[in-house]
Amino acid sequence: MAKEGKYTIQKVTYIKQWTDHLFSFKITRDESFKFIPGQFARLGVKKEDETIVWRPYSIVSADYDEELEFYSIVVPDGEFTQRLKNIKINDDIYIDKTNYGLLTTDRFENGKDLWFLSTGTGLAPFISIMYDFSVWEQYDKVILVHCTRLSEELTYQETINEFFTHEYYGELVKDKLKYVKITTREKNEADLYGRITDLIVNKELEDFVGIPFTVENSRVMICGNPQMVDDTRRLLAERGLTISRRGNPGNMAVENYW
Ligand SMILES: Cc1cc2nc3c(=O)[nH]c(=O)nc-3n(C[C@H](O)[C@H](O)[C@H](O)COP(=O)(O)OP(=O)(O)OC[C@H]3O[C@@H](n4cnc5c(N)ncnc54)[C@H](O)[C@@H]3O)c2cc1C
Repeated sequence: MAKEGKYTIQKVTYIKQWTDHLFSFKITRDESFKFIPGQFARLGVKKEDETIVWRPYSIVSADYDEELEFYSIVVPDGEFTQRLKNIKINDDIYIDKTNYGLLTTDRFENGKDLWFLSTGTGLAPFISIMYDFSVWEQYDKVILVHCTRLSEELTYQETINEFFTHEYYGELVKDKLKYVKITTREKNEADLYGRITDLIVNKELEDFVGIPFTVENSRVMICGNPQMVDDTRRLLAERGLTISRRGNPGNMAVENYW
């Protein structure tokens, strides 16, 4: 693929439409592009005036995958996604050569329970982390929480359920993974109903999973809607959990999407 200084130009190889405003796509991967599961890439699409508009996107793929998968919202009037939504197979996507982000499990020490708290497309980095075998070796429980407004937005269920029978991870995953589907606007097929923050306050989330948040055992990664991220972080801080900082490992790592 063409290399242009700080970025490379890759090709779209796969597109999956989940709903009218949610889709996933894959692009070819330059052999020099490296990332740690949980990190994001900076993607660019060309505008009509030939300039490139860039946005950060979490990587869904395993670090060993040959292609890179992304999961996207379509924002009405969004400068980037109103263009991205029209991509076709073989179209060009620009990708910065650098990998970014601190939503990675190496920010934690010890801990028994790894929590992934996500809203909407904030699920993406956690799929990538789940492909990391060391996570399944290291933690006793991995709790994946995906919260959306509607049940049709509870995407990637097939991919997540495949972890339970995965040829390498399956044996570990089936005893360790708890997958919790939450919706806020309809009850349907979800496990719980309501906002993550409310379900933490009323303890429904911990009761459903059967595991409490504790300073000693919990390592919590939070990603997606900034309001959810901030409110959850505050609620867990009230329970004694701290943000992990470089050289000072704690309980929480967070990423705001806007
Ligand atoms: C570190 C990081 C990683 C990100 N990873 C992803 C990802 O994996 N998938 C993804 O779809 N987006 C992701 N985003 C958001 C993404 O960069 C863009 O904001 C999004 O694609 C919309 O771009 P836009 O130009 O169309 O609209 P923008 O002008 O960028 O955003 C307009 C508004 O749309 C809303 N919005 C933006 N992104 C989202 C979203 N993901 N879900 C719901 N509402 C949103 C917000 O209200 C925002 O103010 C990430 C952002 C950050 C900072």
